[in-house]
Amino acid sequence: MPKLIVHGGAGTIAEARRSAYHRGLRAALAAGWAVLDAGGDAVEAALRAVETMEADAEAFNAGVGGSPNRDGEVELDAAVVRGADGSAGAVAAVRTAPSAVRLADVVRRTTPHVLLVGPGADALVERPIDPAHLLTPHSRAAWERWRSRQAEADAAPPPPTGSATVGAVALDAAGDLAAATSTGGVLGKWPGRVGDAPIVGAGTYADRAVAVSCTGRGEAFLRAVTAKALAERLAAGAGLDDALARALADVRDHGGEGGLIVATADGRLAYGFDTAHLALGWTDGTTTVAEVLAEATVVVLPTP
Ligand code: ASP
Repeated sequence: MPKLIVHGGAGTIAEARRSAYHRGLRAALAAGWAVLDAGGDAVEAALRAVETMEADAEAFNAGVGGSPNRDGEVELDAAVVRGADGSAGAVAAVRTAPSAVRLADVVRRTTPHVLLVGPGADALVERPIDPAHLLTPHSRAAWERWRSRQAEADAAPPPPTGSATVGAVALDAAGDLAAATSTGGVLGKWPGRVGDAPIVGAGTYADRAVAVSCTGRGEAFLRAVTAKALAERLAAGAGLDDALARALADVRDHGGEGGLIVATADGRLAYGFDTAHLALGWTDGTTTVAEVLAEATVVVLPTP
């Protein structure tokens, strides 16, 4: 039975924006599920779900509306991994891609490489967009607030803040898994900063047994090599809930917080987070749930 789980980021999600998140999560689930329902593969389902959220200008920190860096420019990171053969593609600090996750898939399918950054990645964009199109009134206002807080605190500038990264993990009818993640990174990041999302094994990972997409303070997920560590714990026999709890504990030990979504080849979906909120959706074709969760938790969804 195919399954799809998506996230729209871990962090603090203002009450006023929740309905936009719900709509965005539902649209992503519908787009990804349409692929799985038609017998399509997990990679295409994850890509469709993520690109739907990237294109959403109302919610989410990915694609249009991605968090600007210190200079007020949007630099996007994304990755996609196919569990069946371990093929992976990723891009970082791209500025002209209408969909960073599709560009990551171009890297996966058409280059001898896994990760391309900056101009090298932008050079593969078939129809480049003006980078200014990625800025929205909301992301610009958030950047302006960040910058004025920074000006007030010259001695100790506020740390870059993030949330609303998007991700999808899919299991298709053939039993294959895929994971995809896309983000604008953290608001006020240094130009050229790369987070965990495009780093295979840190923020995004899939193999024949499990697929994972992460969100949260990327530096901590990078140091903890979160997604691969979770896969290894499962392979060593840990329970899914235990592996998720330990992944979050590792991230905390590395100075961060966040969330993860997981699917396993035996049909289980799970998630965990320790931030104020996690925007989460999942569907198995019968039940579809899209919500902004507010109680930090680890949940393994019951399998019918
Ligand atoms: N993990 C992302 C990054 O650090 C940000 C986020 O998920 O909020 O780039």
